[in-house]
Amino acid sequence: MKLTFLGTGTSQGIPVIGCNDKVCVSDDYRDKRLRSSVLIEWDNYACVIDCGPDFRQQMLAANVKDINGILFSHYHADHTAGLDDIRPFSQKNGQVPFYAQKQVIENLKERFDYIFTTKNKYLGAPNVQLHEIENRPLVIGNLQVIPVEVNHGKLKIFGFRFKNLAYITDAKTISKKELKKLLDLDVLVINALRIDTHPTHLNLKEALDIIDEVKPKKAYLTHISHKLGFHAEVSKILPENVYLAYDGLMLDV
Ligand SMILES: [Zn+2]
Ligand SMILES: [Zn+2]
Repeated sequence: MKLTFLGTGTSQGIPVIGCNDKVCVSDDYRDKRLRSSVLIEWDNYACVIDCGPDFRQQMLAANVKDINGILFSHYHADHTAGLDDIRPFSQKNGQVPFYAQKQVIENLKERFDYIFTTKNKYLGAPNVQLHEIENRPLVIGNLQVIPVEVNHGKLKIFGFRFKNLAYITDAKTISKKELKKLLDLDVLVINALRIDTHPTHLNLKEALDIIDEVKPKKAYLTHISHKLGFHAEVSKILPENVYLAYDGLMLDV
């Protein structure tokens, strides 16, 4: 399996528009972060997790020719605002499969009504194939995907496990029961916003505590704010098997 980090930034990305913060003006390419998303490829399949406002740019940067579906962690705009840009894939294949919880599908139907309408649908609008998922395993192509329910403040959202790889974004807490799904991983990707605590996202210490509890062989941090610090400096203070992800980073898992 191959994982490509398409974006590793929090909701406003880095640099933040108009911000003179030291990280936002850094010229290290690893300090430039589009909104969080990953591409997961195996055999002849490719899926993305989330479809934020940078989706088009991310598909071009990673030279993605086709996808077999989009898995959604939750409905916040930084994970869904790029929906209109799935059109090249829906024109090619007729439909793009969406895998999402009921609450996400309902929210998307409200916000992107022109995509989901059946009456007088605009010819150029994307076409999607909805797969409502619950907290139990699903199959994409020939692969089992296990949702991992995490708490994003009061919102219950999904991370996903694919064999020995798991991707968790926008978590603040994870129940003991769901943490068990993160045991025996080769790679855990998990969000770490900044040093200070935040009401709905894990900070660095909280993310490291979870990593320490489930002990993956390697962990990569994502959904990063400019307040976390420079990639090069934060990397130096991390435990041996923990890394900051950056846009464009690829892993073979
Ligand atoms: Zn987010
Ligand atoms: Zn969110």
